[in-house]
Amino acid sequence: MSRPYKRHQPAEVKRRILVADDEAINRIILGSVLEETYDVIYASNGLETLQQIRDNIDLLSLILLDLRMPGLTGLEILEHMRSTPDMQKIPVIVLTADQNAEVESLTLGAVDFIPKPYPLPKVILARVLRTIELFEDRQIIRSTERDPVTGLYHKEYFYRYAEQYDRYHPNTDMDAIVVDIHHFHIINDRFGMAYGDDILNKISEKLKEVVRGTGGIVCRREADTFMIYRPHRTDYKDILEHAAIEYADGNHTSKVRLMMGVYAMADKKVDIKQRFDRAKMAVDTIRGNITKNIGLYDDRLREKELFAERLIDDFRTSIDSNQFIVYYQPKFDIRSDLPILTSAEALVRWRHPELGMISPSTFIPLFEENGLIQELDMFVWQSAAAQIRYWKDTIGYSVPISVNVSRIDFYEPNMTSYLESTITAYDLTTNDLCLEITESAYTNDSRHIIDKITKLRSLGFRIEMDDFGVGYSSLSMVSTLPIDAIKLDMLFIRNAFKDGKDTKLLEIVIDIAGYLGVPVIAEGVETVDQLRTLRAIGCDIAQGYYFSIPITAEGFEPFLIRRKCQETSAVLGSCPGI
Ligand code: C2E
Ligand code: MG
Ligand code: MG
Repeated sequence: MSRPYKRHQPAEVKRRILVADDEAINRIILGSVLEETYDVIYASNGLETLQQIRDNIDLLSLILLDLRMPGLTGLEILEHMRSTPDMQKIPVIVLTADQNAEVESLTLGAVDFIPKPYPLPKVILARVLRTIELFEDRQIIRSTERDPVTGLYHKEYFYRYAEQYDRYHPNTDMDAIVVDIHHFHIINDRFGMAYGDDILNKISEKLKEVVRGTGGIVCRREADTFMIYRPHRTDYKDILEHAAIEYADGNHTSKVRLMMGVYAMADKKVDIKQRFDRAKMAVDTIRGNITKNIGLYDDRLREKELFAERLIDDFRTSIDSNQFIVYYQPKFDIRSDLPILTSAEALVRWRHPELGMISPSTFIPLFEENGLIQELDMFVWQSAAAQIRYWKDTIGYSVPISVNVSRIDFYEPNMTSYLESTITAYDLTTNDLCLEITESAYTNDSRHIIDKITKLRSLGFRIEMDDFGVGYSSLSMVSTLPIDAIKLDMLFIRNAFKDGKDTKLLEIVIDIAGYLGVPVIAEGVETVDQLRTLRAIGCDIAQGYYFSIPITAEGFEPFLIRRKCQETSAVLGSCPGI
C-alpha cells in the first residue's frame, strides 16, 4: 500500500539533510555547522545527488544544493525534481556565489538560497530550520486534507471545496452522489486489508477519471464510501460501470459491485453536508436490493427526512413529559415441558401525543445517529430499575430484566458508573439488571467496546449478545468474547421455519453454543411448533408472541405473581394460569 505523505518526524529523530556540493571544503564547512543537529548525508556531483535523493526519498527533510556541479548542474536537478511528484515534497535551498541565479532557482522551485561565501553558522542554522518547519507544516496540512489510502480529499475538505465550487459556478445545477461498495468487508476479510486498500485505490482512480471528464470533485467519505459533487448529468449508470473494477478472486476474476445514491440537482440552499446525507439516504434505500444499484433522492425520502427531523425535534419535550414508556416481554426457560418465566426484556415505546404509538425500530436508529440514544437508554435503564424495585416492594418478587444497550452508549464515558449507580439507587444488585448488547457492537469499534463490556461483566452484570446471526461474528469468536448468553436473531428462527423448515443451521449453532457453555435464547418464537422444535434441539430460553407480546409493567405483573406462586407452591396447578 502506498502512503504518499511523509510522516511528521518525532523530535528525538534527527532530520536528514543532503548536502550536495562538489567542493570538499564546502561540504566540510556545512557539515560542521549542521551535524550536531541533523543527520547529514553528502553528494559530490550531480548524478550522485540524484541517487541520494532517490535512496532517501521518504527521509530527506531538506537538500542544500550547489548550482555548479559536474554531471548535472543544480538547475537541472531542480528541474528534474519539479517534474517528479515524489521529489516535489522535499524543500531545496540553493548554495551559490552567483546572485543572478537566484531568480532562476526560485522559479524552478528552490525555497531559499544561501550565498557563498557562507554567512555565520547561526544564520545558516536558522534558515535551514525555518525552511524545514515551513515544509513540514505544509505536509501536515496536505496529509490531513487527503486520505492516505486513496489520495482523495477527506470529507471535511471536500465539503469546503464543494462550497467553493458553488461560489465559482453559482448557476450550475449540481448532483450530490454517494458511491458505496457492496459487501466490501467480505473482500477485506477474504483477501486482507492491503488488498482491500488496493481495490479502494483503483476505484478512486476511476472516480477521479469521471470527474476529470465531467468537472467536479471526488472524495472518500469513510471506509468504502465515496462522494462525488459534479455538474448535473444523468449518466449515473456509466459511472458505476466505469468504476466497477475487476479483481482476482481465486482462479477467476470478479467485479466489484457498486451502488449509488443520487441527490440530483441538489438544492444549494441546503447545507452541503445535508445534501450528501440525502444522497446517502438514497443509497441506503437500495442496500441489500440485488436488482437495483442506483437510488434517487425523491419526495418520498424528503417526507421521511422531515418525519425524522420532527422526531428529533420532539425528543426533548417527549422525554421530559414521560411520553417514552417501557414495556416488558417475558422470556421462558423451555428446557422442561412447562415453560418457566426466567426474565424479561425491557423494550421502549413512544406514545406520541400527535403521531400515536411509534415503534422503536423507527426512532432508535435515528437517535443512534445523533447520540440522543444515550439519554433515552439511561432513561430506560432507570425506569426498569425503578420498576424492579416497585415489584420487589409490592409483589415481593421480581425476575431479572434485560435492558438494551446501544453501541453508541459505549461512547458515554460515564456509562459504567451510571449503570452501577442506578442499581445502587434502587437497592438492587447486578443480578437484577442484564444487558443486551447487539452483535454488531462486538465487530465494529470492537476493542474499545469489548474492554468496556469486560469491565461491566467483572462488576457482575450478565451480558446477552443480541441479534446473533445477522452480523459477522462467528461462533469461534464467541468463545473469546465476554458474553453470558446468545440471543438468536428473529430472522434466524424465521428462516429455519420457513416453507420447507430446515433447522440444520439452528441445530449447529445451538450445539456449538452448548459446547462453549453459553446458553441460547431464541427470539421471535410465535408458534407451538417452533417452541417444540427449539426445545428438542436444545435451546434453553425462548421469547416471542407465542408467550406474550411486549406489555406494560402492569400487564406483566400476573406473570410475576404466577412465577412467585410456582416457586413457593409445590402444586403448580394451584397457581393462576397465564
Ligand atoms: P430487539 O432487542 O432484538 O428486540 C426484539 C424485538 O422483537 C422487539 O421489537 C419485540 O417487540 C420484537 N418481538 C419479540 N417477539 C416477537 C415475535 O414473536 N414476533 C415478532 N414479529 N416480533 C417479536 P421492538 O420492541 O419493536 O424493538 C425493536 C428493536 O429496537 C429492538 O430489537 C432493539 O434493538 C431496539 N430497542 C427497543 N427498545 C430499546 C431500548 O430501550 N434501547 C435501545 N438501545 N434499543 C431498543
Ligand atoms: Mg434486545
Ligand atoms: Mg434481538
